[in-house]
Amino acid sequence: MNALVGSRIGGKSGRSGELLAQKLAAEGITNQQVLQAIARSPRHIFVPEILAHKAYDNTALPIGQGQTISQPYIVAKMSELLLANGTPESILEIGTGSGYQTSILAQLTAKVFSVERIKSLQFQAKRKLQAMDLHNVSMKHGDGWKGWQSKAPFQAIIVTAAPTEVPPALLEQLADGGRLVIPVGEQQQVLKIITRRGDDYDEQQVEAVRFVPLVPGALL
Ligand code: SAH
Repeated sequence: MNALVGSRIGGKSGRSGELLAQKLAAEGITNQQVLQAIARSPRHIFVPEILAHKAYDNTALPIGQGQTISQPYIVAKMSELLLANGTPESILEIGTGSGYQTSILAQLTAKVFSVERIKSLQFQAKRKLQAMDLHNVSMKHGDGWKGWQSKAPFQAIIVTAAPTEVPPALLEQLADGGRLVIPVGEQQQVLKIITRRGDDYDEQQVEAVRFVPLVPGALL
């Protein structure tokens, strides 16, 4: 049966999503809007059908093309960090991947802009967001190192793949007072929050993380 059939979204996933949200609250996630979005999101439609039974475990899973759907804890943590200074009007996401993080963000803000370099993943993510009736996401097939110039500036930017250094375009496209939440590094990666204050950028390091690389250049 097609994993996108509507009844599975409202049905079984409801309870599993709630249990996952409870687990994340126990691990220290406190933002109630974020926990509600996790509770409502059918993570099983964002993973390959063969892994659907693991969809509500707190682990990253493969989604094809050598990419992964992020661990729910990190999705919740990054969302919480992004909202820590209040709700931004719009969010730029780099690395759509499965679209699961996108679906959480779409429930937390009025408008999400999401960039992905692998066309097939972007296409699948789009269908899943439509199945969830989330229509406030604009997607672009492009290189996230360059951000999304025509929609800038952004109050909030989240990057879900790790560059070796913070892409200068993302710093430029951050609004004054805006926040960028981004993993940086190669073997050793650290999650950073960068806040813009005029032409200055404050940097905080949050915790060690592990993401797939933010690949520069050529699109697939
Ligand atoms: N938040 C996603 C994470 C997917 S993994 C999820 O939970 O499903 C990171 C994604 O970043 C992959 O889909 C990968 O293709 C994408 N990516 C890597 N380099 C990129 C780049 N330069 N521009 C845009 N997307 C990129």
